[in-house]
Amino acid sequence: MSFTIDVEDIRTSSDQQYRVRLNVDRVLTWLHDRGVIGTAFIVGTLAESDPSLVRAIVDAGHEVGLHSWTHTAIEKHSPLDFGRDIKKGRELLQDISGQPVNGFRAPFMSLTARTPHAPEQIAGAGFMYSSSVLPAASPLFGLPGAPTTPFLWECGLLELPCPVTRIGPLTIPFLGGTYIRLLPRIITMRALRRQDEESVMWTYCHPWDFDLEERFRQYPETGFVTSILCFRGRRRMFPQLGAIINDLDCSSLSEIASGLLAPNATPLSMFSIAGRDAA
Ligand SMILES: [Zn+2]
Repeated sequence: MSFTIDVEDIRTSSDQQYRVRLNVDRVLTWLHDRGVIGTAFIVGTLAESDPSLVRAIVDAGHEVGLHSWTHTAIEKHSPLDFGRDIKKGRELLQDISGQPVNGFRAPFMSLTARTPHAPEQIAGAGFMYSSSVLPAASPLFGLPGAPTTPFLWECGLLELPCPVTRIGPLTIPFLGGTYIRLLPRIITMRALRRQDEESVMWTYCHPWDFDLEERFRQYPETGFVTSILCFRGRRRMFPQLGAIINDLDCSSLSEIASGLLAPNATPLSMFSIAGRDAA
């Protein structure tokens, strides 16, 4: 189990208060008090505008990874622009942190069959692993047929798919901040116990999951109902996380990924994943 957070600034105008640092500091204090080391995937433009945020995360002992350059779904970029942007983002994070940056996470888990070029470009930019795939059908960006356990892409990139569980007919990414806040704890704990031994469990929280003072507003590129789901239950966030994390071992995703690079794993292409989905 690994604690990960996607660090992005969702303001739509500079008139709105900058609240990312405040919330990240809360999370860093909470992790420090529990001796938990995790991974923060940071948007490149945010790192550029607030490099001290990156340094605070690294100084607290955590891993930093890239959460794209502008927090836009992969398919909204040309392959050329996508490759250039993630290379730029990785170099920036390495310059600020003074550490190698091994991990990439696509915004909205947007590595799908519509972006078959992405794994090779992520590897080409120097990343060792990706955590960018939702291995289920989804109205937005799922990749049905993808394994729910770690796998290698043909280019050698290691993919750590988003943890999912089945509830009735639905397959849901139950360790996302919204699910952690809103699902009854018994369901989350049961889902964790049911996971395949080879699965790698990671949370994907956001700074706003911890924001008790922010007033409700509709988020950019987000519907009204989803914005409400992003807003409800924030007082439960730390207690729920505490219950999950107390039970499990916490390491950065890089540490976990380093132990997983099995040379004899069968690499997958987007084509073979489509075949698995059809089977
Ligand atoms: Zn994001």
